[in-house]
Amino acid sequence: MERSIRCWDCGREVDDPYFDSCPSCNGLLEVVLDLEPVKELRPSDLASRPLGVWRYQPFLPVNPDLAVSLQEGGTPLYRCMNLAPELGVRELHVKYEGANPTGSFKDRGMTVGITRAREIGADMVGCASTGNTSASLAAYAAKAGMGCVVLLPEGKVALGKLAQAMFYGAKVVSIEGNFDDALRTVRELAEKRFLYLLNSINPFRPEGQKSVLFEIMDQLYYDVPDRIVLPVGNAGNISAVHKALKELVEVGWIERMPMLTGIQASGSMPLVEAFDRGSKDFTAESAPETLATAIRIGNPVSGRKALEAIYSTGGHALPVTDEEILAAQMELGRREGVGVEPASAASIAGLRRLIEEGIVDRDEKVVCICTGNALKDPEVMISQCDRPVKSRATAESVMDLVR
Ligand SMILES: *Cc1c(COP(=O)(O)O)cnc(C)c1O
Ligand SMILES: [Zn+2]
Repeated sequence: MERSIRCWDCGREVDDPYFDSCPSCNGLLEVVLDLEPVKELRPSDLASRPLGVWRYQPFLPVNPDLAVSLQEGGTPLYRCMNLAPELGVRELHVKYEGANPTGSFKDRGMTVGITRAREIGADMVGCASTGNTSASLAAYAAKAGMGCVVLLPEGKVALGKLAQAMFYGAKVVSIEGNFDDALRTVRELAEKRFLYLLNSINPFRPEGQKSVLFEIMDQLYYDVPDRIVLPVGNAGNISAVHKALKELVEVGWIERMPMLTGIQASGSMPLVEAFDRGSKDFTAESAPETLATAIRIGNPVSGRKALEAIYSTGGHALPVTDEEILAAQMELGRREGVGVEPASAASIAGLRRLIEEGIVDRDEKVVCICTGNALKDPEVMISQCDRPVKSRATAESVMDLVR
């Protein structure tokens, strides 16, 4: 596979794998693939491989012989027959990323990122995280036999995610400050070459995350949906989905793109503000707040890429409140049997708003990406539910209580 790492802003080629931004202009890096050979292929040429990240190896910039995989991807695409008429949209599909090996879409990027780490001979990897990146990295580092350091913002990480990072054997460091402070610190560690950085600023992570879009297209038999709605934190995922769409257009597998629509929490919405101003750049927020901790990010690393993704596909950026997020989380659980963590429910809450505001046409075919598993944050789940009721061990007693 011919490929290069280039600056998204000035186009300079960057060779040193320890650089996480452009040495000339400090811009964002991205992988540029030569897709000429892929133009010879059709989607059906890949269909005999199992659904999952590595099915799409012709679009991945790493050596598959070195792959470190936990069989990530291949997640369900649920057709929501109950929720669609309730929300008032023709067709709604939920891409359930909670079914990944560590329970979030982060595994898609991590399998490629850690394979890259192996390619360059790294023996120590690290990240800053609101939780899911650290859970994922810890698992893949364990599989690859590498050392792993994760920096978490103190006191703001959901219990399930913290448990995972500790369980898989990462060195867990609690940083005074928020996610943005943790990221700045881990970037310094990478600069000193103390570790290989595996945040989504690493251009190999989004390459794996492209696969969520490839899978959606396979699962819809290449009938392009009208819109894809997803929660936006650091904006790596929406940027990766956009890159995947551009590559599919380039190889001629699709002719048009769905409208990419990013949802942020109203307490943490720098990109929504930029979108409302019609601006290509955003102003960072210093004190982001939301119970959807996975998108509690004030200075989204790939924010400018996300804005381009939204503008160039005719999409939107919209805020939702924590109350709307919780309501959507419950609705998805109780109407569709799908359990997602709060950040993921932002896409459903956002869709409801988009329909109410008349932005989404009732005739649209919509895919919501639900990024993480409900079990990541059991405390939020429990806080919304009735407590178990106590009963004597007799049928009569239970029937009295349940009636
Ligand atoms: C990381 C994450 C997000 C945000 O994704 P970005 O790529 O940072 O925009 C949303 N939901 C969940 C569950 C996540 O783990
Ligand atoms: Zn540059």
